[in-house]
Amino acid sequence: MAGALLRLGGFLIVASVVYLAAAQVLAGTVHRSLFWMIATGGAACVALGLLLSIAGRGMAAMVGRSCPRCGRRVARGRVYCEEHLQATINEYRDHQRNRGV
Ligand SMILES: [Zn+2]
Repeated sequence: MAGALLRLGGFLIVASVVYLAAAQVLAGTVHRSLFWMIATGGAACVALGLLLSIAGRGMAAMVGRSCPRCGRRVARGRVYCEEHLQATINEYRDHQRNRGV
């Protein structure tokens, strides 16, 4: 979504510049209001895309990860949910114990 907006905005900005040059060369006159409409539209898309990508990253950090075993959300900084964290620790401990003997 954010990437598409950034691409669209970039395209519109390029289009406005192309329009400016083409209108100047081909028609000898430029509809400045049209140019500004395309250019500001492109700039707005880029700004929105940047905002969305920043917000998306913030949301991802807030939502956090999900447990790779059950897919449940886990607290920030954790890899497994409470249940599977304990299970993983137990398994690790068993593994160590078995290897030790
Ligand atoms: Zn889990």
